[in-house]
Amino acid sequence: MRTTSTLAIDAFHHWHPFTQARDAEAFPPLVIDRAKGVFLYDAQGRRYYDTISSWWTNLHGHGHPALTRALHRQAKRLDHVNFSGFTHVPAARLSARLADHLPPTLCRFFYSDNGSTAVEAAVKMAVQYFYNLGRPDKRRVAYLGGAYHGDTLGAVSLSGSGGFHAPFQALRFDSLELLQPDFARPHGFTFNPVNEPADEGHWQAVQALLTAQADSLAAVIVEPLIQCVAGMRPYPAEFLRRLQSLCRSLDILVIYDEVATGFGRTGSLFALDQAGTQPDLLCLAKGLSGGVLPLAVTVTTKAVYQAFSGPRERTFFHGHSYTANPIACAAGEASLRLLEKPATLARAGQAAQTLAEGLQGWAGLAFVRDVRFLGLMAAVDLADPEAGLPLPAAWGLGQRIYRLGLEHGLVLRPLGDTVYWLLPLVLKPAQVRAILEKSRTVIESVLRQWAAEGRRSDGALGGAEFAGASV
Ligand SMILES: *Cc1c(COP(=O)(O)O)cnc(C)c1O
Repeated sequence: MRTTSTLAIDAFHHWHPFTQARDAEAFPPLVIDRAKGVFLYDAQGRRYYDTISSWWTNLHGHGHPALTRALHRQAKRLDHVNFSGFTHVPAARLSARLADHLPPTLCRFFYSDNGSTAVEAAVKMAVQYFYNLGRPDKRRVAYLGGAYHGDTLGAVSLSGSGGFHAPFQALRFDSLELLQPDFARPHGFTFNPVNEPADEGHWQAVQALLTAQADSLAAVIVEPLIQCVAGMRPYPAEFLRRLQSLCRSLDILVIYDEVATGFGRTGSLFALDQAGTQPDLLCLAKGLSGGVLPLAVTVTTKAVYQAFSGPRERTFFHGHSYTANPIACAAGEASLRLLEKPATLARAGQAAQTLAEGLQGWAGLAFVRDVRFLGLMAAVDLADPEAGLPLPAAWGLGQRIYRLGLEHGLVLRPLGDTVYWLLPLVLKPAQVRAILEKSRTVIESVLRQWAAEGRRSDGALGGAEFAGASV
């Protein structure tokens, strides 16, 4: 009864993110009733491995008692208050704890609600920083090809994810696209290239453009170590070290968007730990609250903050209603405490190793074009098993894998013909192996279906077309 009415109301009222309306009609969403640990449960009590951590947010599994307790306690004491003119214990505790884990230069915390707002704040800070210093010409931001930094218009202006943003091309502000790092191995598999040398050709191209445009550039923004929406594409840390020293010499601020990579997902607490670098601005969101409430922070340096101190017109006139929400901050602090337990990262390390070993075994399978991984993030590009070539996006591969995945108790949301996993930190090795086994079963069965349908490049399914990519 409850399911029926939920679906009826959903069909009538809800506009789901990243969802084509016709798909939503043909394949109504699944009603999720509850979640515990690494599983989601539907209204019929069937369970699903949350292999994408509920859109990359969940770290410790669902319903973790430490987080639930912290936010309950805080809700009873202080639910919310504006963060200008007021401050509170949960924000102070979270900031102090976070600062313990960041390079000491990153000491100023500006809170907001989500990854996109964290990016918007970072970009506006970088631009106003130079404006306040009397250098208004340094107002553009450079980004890497293929990047994704969010869906608000500023973030869209810094994203290379073409299809998502086509209607807004005219609204993009003047930004500078740098060559995308590409570590795909044409005759082999990418695996984990983070400790390999930087690609000289790529570096030369980036260096030349930044050097030529430095006078107009306030900042460069990157997803450090791995481009996520681009298809979980890791790249060498050495690129980040070179970028940092070049940008220092050219007086360009460096922004790290660690919205997806933060909080243990890459094998270290932050991607910047593996790179050994210190950006001028750092964006955190998704895992910041442990995955239970919206919370984001833009962290910067004393030098940047000081440029905003002085006459009134130097103020950063920017903020959001729910800035530093106390309940979300309390959850964030509880989540950091869990991350600080040596067992947490050790267990995540074991899961990551199982994932890497499992996927290395996929290299050479007929349906696999490439395999990549970094920590708990991993992806395979699929191929037509007979020709070894990419599969046509129009066939709706992603949707079919998604739907069959659910039948096998698995949440898989491919990006085009790339199947990825972004796992919570608490999976046991046996669960990681189970996820990979089930994923393989699903992929092989969908590809058999493709062959059975005559390997057509189009594939109207249930009367609906499928978006090539989903997130
Ligand atoms: C998800 C994501 C964002 C946007 O975060 P939202 O909370 O969805 O607005 C920005 N940058 C990166 C790298 C992301 O993965």
